[in-house]
Amino acid sequence: MNQDVRVRYAPSPTGHLHIGGARTALFDYLMARKHGGQFVVRFEDTDQTRHKESGIQDQLDGLRWLGLEWDESVDVGGPYAPYRQTERLHLYAPYTDQLLASGHAYHCYCSEEDLEKERAEQEARGEMGGYSGRCRHLTPEQVEAFRAEGRKPSVRFKVPSGRIIAFEDRVREHVEFESDGIGDFIIERPDGMPTYNYAVVLDDVLMKINLVIRGEEHLSNTPRQILLYEALGLPIPEFAHLALILNEDRKKMSKRDETVLQFMNQYAELGYIPEAVLNFIALLGWSPVGEQEIFSKEELIEQFDLGRVSKSPAIFDTHKLNHLSNAYMKKADLDRVIGLCVPHLVKAGLVPAERTAEEQAWVEKLVALYQEQLTYGAEIVPLSSMFFRDDVEMENEETAAILKEESVPVVLGAFLSKVETAQDFAPETIGAMLKEVQKETGFKGKQLFMPTRVALTGQMHGRDLNHTIHLLGKEKVAARLRLILS
Ligand code: GLU
Repeated sequence: MNQDVRVRYAPSPTGHLHIGGARTALFDYLMARKHGGQFVVRFEDTDQTRHKESGIQDQLDGLRWLGLEWDESVDVGGPYAPYRQTERLHLYAPYTDQLLASGHAYHCYCSEEDLEKERAEQEARGEMGGYSGRCRHLTPEQVEAFRAEGRKPSVRFKVPSGRIIAFEDRVREHVEFESDGIGDFIIERPDGMPTYNYAVVLDDVLMKINLVIRGEEHLSNTPRQILLYEALGLPIPEFAHLALILNEDRKKMSKRDETVLQFMNQYAELGYIPEAVLNFIALLGWSPVGEQEIFSKEELIEQFDLGRVSKSPAIFDTHKLNHLSNAYMKKADLDRVIGLCVPHLVKAGLVPAERTAEEQAWVEKLVALYQEQLTYGAEIVPLSSMFFRDDVEMENEETAAILKEESVPVVLGAFLSKVETAQDFAPETIGAMLKEVQKETGFKGKQLFMPTRVALTGQMHGRDLNHTIHLLGKEKVAARLRLILS
């Protein structure tokens, strides 16, 4: 492109940022940054039934959390303000007048009941043609009569017949629609509110948007929009329609589908690393050239290519999400991981909100112990719950069976006497104590470590044993050993 690419994310502010919207916004962002253009965020808030006032903030929070800074929007303004549709209504009137004057649009006085009746009749005849266009040719007397009844007209766009509307989509390539399948559609409702197809065209034109990236569910709207651009004599932007994101069962996700994490606030609340989620979203439909899987935002900007976005649906792969999240967690600074984990321990009532230096040091070591294993912060709670119990809960029968082995009382007894007399309880000291137990009892390897781990944690596998014992602390360790020995 030799002009700046101007892209926009145009959500209806009906709730939190959804993964589908986040992907659109990310691809917008990457195109804008890659080509030195601008990323606009504007709100289509004219549907009062679905509108939620917090929706705008929720959407912006989601984008901000992902690290997608925008160039123009409701908060930062910009040369084409305002950026919410309800504040732009006055801008549309001249275009409506133009369409009416040029004969591309007309007033339609059909009531809801009229239209319902027409639909039913069409259906009975097995037709699916949309609006019949019967208000196209009203006589002045008919118009007068409708007005006298107090009817307010909507404005309909006159769809030309027999046209093929074709465009080259940046993702879907050549796309065609027949105009005969599209009935005359409403562009302005009787209350003066523009419909989506109309307002989106005018906003895109007025904001000089030249590349429209959006979900495939809008593909069938595009021919309507193209007809509007043509009728108004305005430049048509390029389009890129992104295929659906399906859940793991390859089914369309409903917003209530709980098998996948769909909203950015959920990720934020669970303590995911945003860069990991961004990386995951980038791969929903885009395939990089090589085998690389982990991409920083800068690398995405450099390598992203709309030409490598798939036409087929993307599958939400939770395994991949976890894999990427864990990879980012492992590489993250410990302080950051602590910041993602500790609020969850506090919320679960496991550690105090106000901590002494000693408590803080302990909780930091606890997070460090699990860092390698984590995919998101909240996971620290189930992973480390055994530290906070008074008793030991056996993971399963197999685990419980281990404590029935003959060697167990010998090993644990020897270890208990060392613990009771230990001068300090550092991980290295604990390692040394276990070595002495080995020497004294003759049990080594699995026979030594497995019963010790199981007795103290109830689990057969876990993090480094010396550090685990150290963090449990002398009192708890002694108590747990006594419990098993009794
Ligand atoms: N408000 C529409 C949506 O949220 C925007 C569609 C478009 O980008 O044109 O789906």
